[in-house]
Amino acid sequence: MNTLFDGVEPMVYESGISVPYNWWAGDTASRFFVGLRDEQKIWGTRCVSCGMVRVPPRKSCPKCFHSPTDWVEVSSEGVIQTFTVARRQLAALKQSVPIIFGLIRLDGADTSLLHYIGNISPEAAHIGMRVKVKFSETRKGEIRDIACFIPVE
Ligand SMILES: [Zn+2]
Repeated sequence: MNTLFDGVEPMVYESGISVPYNWWAGDTASRFFVGLRDEQKIWGTRCVSCGMVRVPPRKSCPKCFHSPTDWVEVSSEGVIQTFTVARRQLAALKQSVPIIFGLIRLDGADTSLLHYIGNISPEAAHIGMRVKVKFSETRKGEIRDIACFIPVE
């Protein structure tokens, strides 16, 4: 059966649309981000039932489902639990590769925070390395208020 499009190559174009939007971060995330922006402190939540300290903070404990939790300041230093290296420059990456992404367990926390590892070559990074936070000079109340984590000297 012939159709109007027989013999015509189907063309598909890739494009994008911009959809600006806002949303409320919630009281827990807001408290965390205000701490980064205004205090240059990293806050976590401690479950009043099981005692686990989570960073980033959680409104309720995903382990025992207890709520509420208490706010606790954790150290700005911690240990690289694991990491990976991005070596391909994708459009979504705002920094130049190679970029080291690490899970950092801050002293006083029981969970890890995903962030950049900076001031070090990928070859020198290792699991168990002690790192400390480097705050951004201009802070807006977002996770990038932490510029990266750098090795403790
Ligand atoms: Zn708990």
